[in-house]
Amino acid sequence: MRGLVYKSTGSWYDVKLASGKRVKSRLKGKFRIQGIKSTNPVAVGDYVDLQIEKKGDEELGVIKEIEERRNYIIRKSVNLSKQTHIIASNIDLAFLLITYNNPPTSTTFIDRFLVSAEAYHIPVVLLFNKMDTYNLDEKVELKFLAEMYREIGYECHGISAETGLQIEAVKELMKDKTCMVSGHSGVGKSSLINALQPGLSIKTSNISLQHLQGQHTTTFAEMHELDFGGRIIDTPGIRGFGVVAIEDEELTDYFPEFFAIKHQCKFTNCLHLSEPKCAIKKAVEEGGIEVSRYESYLQILKGEDENYRKDIYAE
Ligand code: GDP
Ligand code: ZN
Repeated sequence: MRGLVYKSTGSWYDVKLASGKRVKSRLKGKFRIQGIKSTNPVAVGDYVDLQIEKKGDEELGVIKEIEERRNYIIRKSVNLSKQTHIIASNIDLAFLLITYNNPPTSTTFIDRFLVSAEAYHIPVVLLFNKMDTYNLDEKVELKFLAEMYREIGYECHGISAETGLQIEAVKELMKDKTCMVSGHSGVGKSSLINALQPGLSIKTSNISLQHLQGQHTTTFAEMHELDFGGRIIDTPGIRGFGVVAIEDEELTDYFPEFFAIKHQCKFTNCLHLSEPKCAIKKAVEEGGIEVSRYESYLQILKGEDENYRKDIYAE
């Protein structure tokens, strides 16, 4: 019987069947998934094949198989022999909440998030929150930013978790999907979730999808259902998500507007630094590619700097 994993404690799983029924399930024997070496073979968001066993009045599930994941986010433990922990899988949509100030969200932060999401194959929608607080200049600035990201192909909305601006549009986007809500601490993640469904209290995470992080304690994600149809993944205590290491040559692939023209570079292995006849540098000079995007590209290529670390951890 097919089921969807809503919760994992490491030793048992809460699985929902097509009928809507929830069954407490476990794994039997040695369970291995090809390709990924992780500390947890089954993650929240996994579709599994269950065998139902009766134990008195109670029905228990035994997980027999896991369907191939469309995508998954991981956390790498630096301390524990570089083990990978799968936080959640089959994510349909990630919302990145952005505020102009209070707290400020930098384009570097946004771009790093987008790169990670591209690498994970997770679609992203950018939500510019706290629209009720901005003055005209700030609104103009945000409009410019939103236009830039729309041009690249990312959907953008100006919202207010406080006044309810565009909350219906967000609900519409979430409908029947498995979503996650990310962004700096204080951007309004909890407020948004409360506006979407009052009473649903979830922790979310002040995350970058990017960061490798060592953590001793194992925390598990949990999925919640939304009244209007859809699911939201809660990632309590998880502040950073690891991303599979991105090779230098691969990085261009995760900047869609770079990827679109990279074949025009003279050298196939062009890193778009100072190589001659580089289509990307030319596009930056001519305005086809935004300078801020190119700067983010350079920063990521050079590796994570200390400021970035502070950016993430000062929460
Ligand atoms: P989180 O850390 O991302 O979960 O952020 P919170 O939801 O706790 O919000 C941080 C602060 O911003 C709180 O004081 C909220 O009331 C406030 N806030 C969140 N969204 C909005 C908004 O759209 N407009 C205004 N004016 N304040 C907001
Ligand atoms: Zn190039």
